[in-house]
Amino acid sequence: MTPALPPSSQPDHASRGPALARRALPPLLFCLARIVVCGTLIGWLAPELLGPFRHDTPELTTPARLSKTLATATRTLDQELFSTLKKVAPGLRPFNPQERLETFQGVQWRSTRLELQLPASVSPEKVVGALQALSFDADWQVRLKPLWLEPLSPSIHITVRGYPTHLLTLHPALQPAEVPAASPRPRIAILIDDLGVDRSALEALWPLETPFSVAILPFTPYALELAERAYQRQKEILVHLPMEPLPRPDGERLEPPLGQLTLQMSLEEVKQKTRRAVLAVPYARGVNNHQGSAFTRDRTRMSAMLEVLLPEQLFFVDSRTIGDSIGLELARELGIPATGRQLFLDNDPEPDRIRQALERLKAVALKKGSALGIGHPYPTTLEVLRTWLPEAQQAGFDLVPVSSVTE
Ligand SMILES: [Zn+2]
Repeated sequence: MTPALPPSSQPDHASRGPALARRALPPLLFCLARIVVCGTLIGWLAPELLGPFRHDTPELTTPARLSKTLATATRTLDQELFSTLKKVAPGLRPFNPQERLETFQGVQWRSTRLELQLPASVSPEKVVGALQALSFDADWQVRLKPLWLEPLSPSIHITVRGYPTHLLTLHPALQPAEVPAASPRPRIAILIDDLGVDRSALEALWPLETPFSVAILPFTPYALELAERAYQRQKEILVHLPMEPLPRPDGERLEPPLGQLTLQMSLEEVKQKTRRAVLAVPYARGVNNHQGSAFTRDRTRMSAMLEVLLPEQLFFVDSRTIGDSIGLELARELGIPATGRQLFLDNDPEPDRIRQALERLKAVALKKGSALGIGHPYPTTLEVLRTWLPEAQQAGFDLVPVSSVTE
């Protein structure tokens, strides 16, 4: 290999060294020393020749080293991302920050979720473009991927060496929408889920004439009473069917809700439990999943659950607690009316945020003809909806039950 090295870079010990060493060291030791010297030199001068044996690789793959790399990379990403955001979208307001310490096979890293309210002059596409133009240390293998988890609001999903570190959702600024006089009235369905635990949850909304729908958790203390009340007020009722979520990253196991469908159940058990849940919520016209990030990816068990809905003429709303849920696709295959297109109203239960989410819902309805918004029985959500529902109707939107936006 000596001829391959440029003369100027030939170190002294590569020419004179061997003669000295040959006298001083036994032959075996000399060979070893030579391998080490050559290996180190190639490592310095032409690292690609050593391929997977490059000296830093084994250390990088240990969980401790990888965790350290991820920590450095996420810190740098934080700085770069936010200075770019400040530059392209001055006046942008971040909200709903969530930071988590994640662990996987001994590797630890921090993941950040953040929503960003953009100023009126800046489009989400412009921000996505600016973030995608950033470049980082090649060794970190940073990938930025735009996702559309919500219509109109793209998210940027960022991974470092395959580990998800950031999820940034960009919300455009919207003016209160009015429906043009000549166009047909766009339809909006509002669904409040997670009901059944608190008796007085919907007190603020019951007096409203405007249609909204309720999803009730089966076997909860007030499931029957709330279903009865909703039926009397002519509100559409759904079974909020609990399904197994993925394990929590911190390893903590929470008490599963009653009637939860799990991956351990046989297909017959899944069907039986689904039938019982449907019977536990009287007057139900449809079903949507509570949690289910693990269960909704299981094709055979999801099919078994959906087969129960078909003869009962129940529709299905895929709550999409995970990106690759197959609930909607399967329901369509079986001919069950369904929807998966929706927007969460209160990821951040701050009243201003809820109003912004409702404006986005109107914009989606204007664009697509209909939209479904899902909220929770938080006092702020109910208070905002109490005034928003009649106002939206006044502004030209048709407030409809969830079944009207299924296909
Ligand atoms: Zn739920």
